[in-house]
Amino acid sequence: MARTALVTGGTRGIGEAISIALKKAGYNVAATYAGNDEKAQAFKADHGVAVFKWDVGDPEACTAGVAKVEAELGPVDILVNNAGITRDGMFHKMTFDQWRDVMRTNLDSMFTMTRPVIDGMRERGFGRIINITSINGQKGQMGQANYSAAKAGVIGFTKALAQENAKKGITVNAIAPGYIATEMVMAVPEKVRESIVATIPVGRLGESDEIADAVLYLAGDKAGFVTGSTLTINGGQYIA
Ligand code: NDP
Repeated sequence: MARTALVTGGTRGIGEAISIALKKAGYNVAATYAGNDEKAQAFKADHGVAVFKWDVGDPEACTAGVAKVEAELGPVDILVNNAGITRDGMFHKMTFDQWRDVMRTNLDSMFTMTRPVIDGMRERGFGRIINITSINGQKGQMGQANYSAAKAGVIGFTKALAQENAKKGITVNAIAPGYIATEMVMAVPEKVRESIVATIPVGRLGESDEIADAVLYLAGDKAGFVTGSTLTINGGQYIA
């Protein structure tokens, strides 16, 4: 029977590529989103992926959301914690709301989304948890103290959870993308983009599909010996 994969923030950007790749590989896929109904419905119509709307920062909504996904698609075997936001600003000007919003969506979500699926994975003796962190959680980024802290937290969470669940057939890994050619990055003026690309040894931006391919590998049976790792996919921009 096909395994079920849940991708948070799976309707747009990198998450969209991940959802499509998992679907093409034969998984039952649930893609979640926060509020962009138009995009989510278009995505559902184009790719036949089931979409679900809830806020990953809200623990009760996550528990109810996972129950709904499992009732419709079956137990979640693969969880891709991908949803994330930025609220940039220099720390000396940062508000607590900017800090808290980023912590809530990017780090609290590790708890709120993983907690409802972990018992089932442990009972079934199989699970794949793949957390999308960032190059900026590895190296720190000026103007992103909140985001860098949350994404570094994701890596610590990944390592601890990997140790706790290794004997239960569950692997837990992180992927740390560098600059990926998503809508957000492509909206940056060309000159600025060129200056970013100049700092990337491979000489180009990454593609969402390159992150999706890594998710496919980590989700599969052949990656059963890979756990607690952070896979850096950044064109050599930062070698951790
Ligand atoms: P996008 O902004 O393109 O998409 C974000 C997705 O997450 C959307 O589906 C959005 O839903 C959803 N989302 C946002 N907030 C919430 C929430 N509170 N609850 C549920 N869903 C939510 O993101 P990217 O594709 O750029 O980034 C994906 C991940 O990759 C993030 O974790 C990001 O930090 C990380 N990353 C991205 C890089 C890049 O270059 N783009 C580089 C390194 C890391 P909706 O459509 O409804 O808003």
